[in-house]
Amino acid sequence: MAPNPALVKHSEEFRKELFELAPGVFTAVGYGASNAHMLVGEEGNVVIDTTDSTKAAENILALFKEKSKAPIETIIYTHSHRDHISGATVMSGGRDIEIMAHAKFSSDIVNIDESRPAPNAAIMARTKRQFGIGLSFPDERVNMGLGPGDRPTEGIGAGHIPPNKRISEDRVTISRCGLDLDLVHAPGETPDHMMVWLKDQEILFCADNFYPIFPNLYAIRGTPYRDFDAWADSLDVMIDLEPAILVSGHGRPIFGKEEIRATLEDYRDAIRYIIAEAAAGMNAGKGLEELAGEIKLPDHLASKSFLQEFYGKVSWSVKAYVVGTLGWFDGNPTNLNRLPPKEEAAKSVKLAGGADKVLTSAQEALAEDDSQWAMELADRLIVLGDFVPAATGVKLAAMRKMADLEINATARNYYLLYAKELEAGT
Ligand SMILES: [Zn+2]
Repeated sequence: MAPNPALVKHSEEFRKELFELAPGVFTAVGYGASNAHMLVGEEGNVVIDTTDSTKAAENILALFKEKSKAPIETIIYTHSHRDHISGATVMSGGRDIEIMAHAKFSSDIVNIDESRPAPNAAIMARTKRQFGIGLSFPDERVNMGLGPGDRPTEGIGAGHIPPNKRISEDRVTISRCGLDLDLVHAPGETPDHMMVWLKDQEILFCADNFYPIFPNLYAIRGTPYRDFDAWADSLDVMIDLEPAILVSGHGRPIFGKEEIRATLEDYRDAIRYIIAEAAAGMNAGKGLEELAGEIKLPDHLASKSFLQEFYGKVSWSVKAYVVGTLGWFDGNPTNLNRLPPKEEAAKSVKLAGGADKVLTSAQEALAEDDSQWAMELADRLIVLGDFVPAATGVKLAAMRKMADLEINATARNYYLLYAKELEAGT
C-alpha cells in the first residue's frame, strides 16, 4: 500500500515560492505551515502573519530582507491560530513593535485559561496526531492538508508575542509605513478573523476564511463549534470586495476577478449546502451518523479542485453542524441512555457467539478490506480485555489501510500516529 496519490499530488500546492503580487507586496508560500506576507512601506514594512515556527519565520525573513532591508514596524495577526502567530519574535527582530489583532483575538491553543479545567492534554495529543508530528516524511506524513509535509519544526509555537494593539471596529482604514490598509473583521474559521484589504491594488489577504481545500468546519484535534453561518456570511463580504488577487493563509494566491468571484461563491455555497441539508435532515428526524453518511456535495461543487477534502471533510462538517445546533442528542429515545462501551461490547460479543468468533470476524473483515468494521469489532474485544494482542493487531493493520485510502491528510496522520502510539504502548 502507498499513500493516496491525490494526497501526494496535493503537496504541489505548497511548493516553496515567494510571490510578488504587486510592487512591494510579497507572499511566501510553502516555507511553513501557513503563509506569511510582507508589504513594503516608506521607511518600514508591515508583515501579515508569521507562520508556525521560529525556524520558518527565519527562512521567510531572509527572503523578505532580499526584497527590503527596512525594519518591520507592524505585524498583523489575521487570527489567533498557532500556525499564524508563532514567528513574531523573529519578524520583530527583538524590537518592541506594534502587534495588531482583532479585539476578539483569543486562541483555542494559546492563552488557554489555566484556571479552567480545559482538556489541554487531550487537545495537545490530538493536535500532534492531526498534523502527524512524530511521523516520518514523506512516507508517513505526506503533507498537512493545508501545508507542506516538510515544514520546519524547530521552534514550533515558540515565537508568539501577544498583540499590543487590538482592533474593535468591523472595518477600519489604518495607515502604516505610508500604506493604507483596510482591516475587515470577518468571522469564519475563528471568530477573531481579521482580513487585510489593499483597496488600491485590490488584493485581499483573507487568512483562513478561504484556502483552496474544503473548509475545516471541524478540526479533529478538538475544536468548539465553528459558526457555519458567520463563515458563509464572511464569504459574501469577501465577494463584495471584488478582489483581483486573493491571498489565503494556506496555498497559492488566486488571480483574476472572475475566477475569484466564482471560487468564493462555490466555497460559500458548499458551506450553505451543508447547513441546508443538515437542517433538513434534522427536521426529518435523522441523527448524526445517518446524516454524515448521507450528505454529499452536489457534483458541480464536489468536482471543484478547491473543495477537495484534503483538510476539512464533508462528513465531519455535517456532524459538527448537527452537534453545534442541536447538541449530541439525535431525538431517538434509544439514544438518551446508551449502554456504555464495555456493556455494549459484552452483550454484542455474547450475541455473536463469543470473543473467538468476534476475533475471526474482525480478521475476515480486515482481509476483505472492510477496515472500519474490523476496527469496530476489534474495539469491542479490546474494551473487554479479550484477545487483546490479536485484536490490537487487527486494529493497527486496519488503521494503516484506512490511512492509505484517505485523501484527508489529517485523518491519515491521525490513523498513523495513533497506530504508532498504540504499538509503542503509549
Ligand atoms: Zn491557518
